[in-house]
Amino acid sequence: MSNKNYLQSVLAQCCPKCRKGRLFSSRPYNLKKFSKMNNTCNCCGQTFQMEPGFYDGAMYVSYAMQVALFATVSVALNVLHPNAGTAWYIGGVITLAILLSPMIFRLSRSLWIHFFVSYDQRNANVKYSNERTSNYSGKVRGEV
Ligand SMILES: [Zn+2]
Repeated sequence: MSNKNYLQSVLAQCCPKCRKGRLFSSRPYNLKKFSKMNNTCNCCGQTFQMEPGFYDGAMYVSYAMQVALFATVSVALNVLHPNAGTAWYIGGVITLAILLSPMIFRLSRSLWIHFFVSYDQRNANVKYSNERTSNYSGKVRGEV
């Protein structure tokens, strides 16, 4: 059984089905590859590319995260430096938005796939391996 809960799985960018495999194949600040996702989970075989355009909806999640970032920066600046001018607000938001964009991109995709793929405790018992392991045979029910 995976020892991660839903939130930990989203934040760690793990497979939503087994909560062990990794969604992304590289580190977030490897700027050439930060958006490269694994095609399938290397632990349970769950596909991460469900259909073309599946992650288009993650843009709305990303937008919400950017708005939350803007609000956080505004409140933090207002509390820490009440006499800050507009340039501080704009500069702070733009700087943090650029620095955090790889993480926001990945977290929005992670949250998006966690919306649609539910946790399956049976797959959480599968041991991690580098090879794809799956019980799915590719056969349709009733097919011999
Ligand atoms: Zn998995």
